[in-house]
Amino acid sequence: MDTDIVLAADRIVARYGSIEALHGVSLSIRRGQIVALLGANGAGKSTTLRTLSGLIAASSGSVRFLGEDITRVPAHRLPHRGLVHVPEGRRIFGDMTIRENLDLGSFTLTDEAERRRRLDHVFELFPILARRHNGDARNLSGGEQQMLAIGRALMAAPQMLLLDEPSMGLAPQLIKEVMNIVQRLNREGVTILLVEQNSKVALKFADYGYVLKGGRIVLEGRGSDLANNDAVVSAYLGGVAA
Ligand code: ATP
Repeated sequence: MDTDIVLAADRIVARYGSIEALHGVSLSIRRGQIVALLGANGAGKSTTLRTLSGLIAASSGSVRFLGEDITRVPAHRLPHRGLVHVPEGRRIFGDMTIRENLDLGSFTLTDEAERRRRLDHVFELFPILARRHNGDARNLSGGEQQMLAIGRALMAAPQMLLLDEPSMGLAPQLIKEVMNIVQRLNREGVTILLVEQNSKVALKFADYGYVLKGGRIVLEGRGSDLANNDAVVSAYLGGVAA
């Protein structure tokens, strides 16, 4: 077994009712990497993340995390093991304060000093969240909500983050800010699987990338190679239907 591999999916199949959305997706992510999962609208990127994090049960295939089979582990147990999913659309709780949203990310933690350490880390990364910690989350801008969603994930002290389109709906300057944070977290030791429709953004940072189309991986390679590969541009940026 390659002990460097943090997360590995082996031929996962996922369905929504009678519709098969993933037809045997395999990927692996090594410790310390940022890996991009690219593809057009409907290609299966979010479904892949949901299957990896247990929100959807794989109908066949397997998922291993840190050497253990997690295929049947329920979603709510995975943050505790070090795998945290930041879903598309952020899913923050607007009528709760920023601090309350952050606390949700560490609700299983009983060590108050450790919670404080994690909170200080999040506030250092995102000073805006510190300044407004008593304010309702609904009053945050889109970019700030994305920061809160990442901050909440960090409260679980993850070894690995599954990030679903953190750039969605953000202005270029904010995309840059969010991606700088992603890169910093990665340098601090967090392994990252990054779903993006915006391949330009993702491949700037990714060590490795996979391209999904119609529920299958159609291309994979080093980030820099994919960034210079015309096939990616036509299959992906060109907007060919998934
Ligand atoms: P997007 O960028 O639009 O989120 P995606 O690559 O993440 O695209 P998925 O959302 O994973 O794609 O969708 C993969 C396929 O599964 C699509 O055909 C989509 O219509 C279908 N699908 C996704 N979510 C559901 C659902 N809740 N119920 C039924 N079908 C779904």
